[in-house]
Amino acid sequence: MVWEMEEGKKWIVLSLDSTSGKPKQYCVTTNGYRLLCNCPHFLNNCEDVNFVCKHIQAVLQTIGKKTEVTKRTKLEDRIKKIEDRIKKLEDDMETLEMNVDYAINPANYA
Ligand SMILES: [Zn+2]
Repeated sequence: MVWEMEEGKKWIVLSLDSTSGKPKQYCVTTNGYRLLCNCPHFLNNCEDVNFVCKHIQAVLQTIGKKTEVTKRTKLEDRIKKIEDRIKKLEDDMETLEMNVDYAINPANYA
C-alpha cells in the first residue's frame, strides 16, 4: 500500500514485516535526486546510490502507473477532439452534398 502525502515528494508505504508479520509503515521522500526510505534495509545500504528497497520500488511503481494514466487520459482527450472534428466535417459534408443535390435537381425539393 502506498499513500502519496505530498505530490511527488512524500509517500507513506505500508508493508508487512517479513519476520513478525506485522504491518510496518515507512516514509519515502525525495531529495531531488533520488528517493530515500527510512527503513533499516535502506539505511544500511544508503551509501549505494543505486540501492532501491522494496518501499521505494512500490513508490516507483505507483509513480509509473500515475504517469501512464495521465498519458492515456491526454491521449484519449486528443482522440475525442479529433472524433468531434471528424463528426463536424461529416455534418458539413452532408449539408454540402444536399446543397449540391438541390442545385442539380431542385425539382426533388419542390
Ligand atoms: Zn524501505
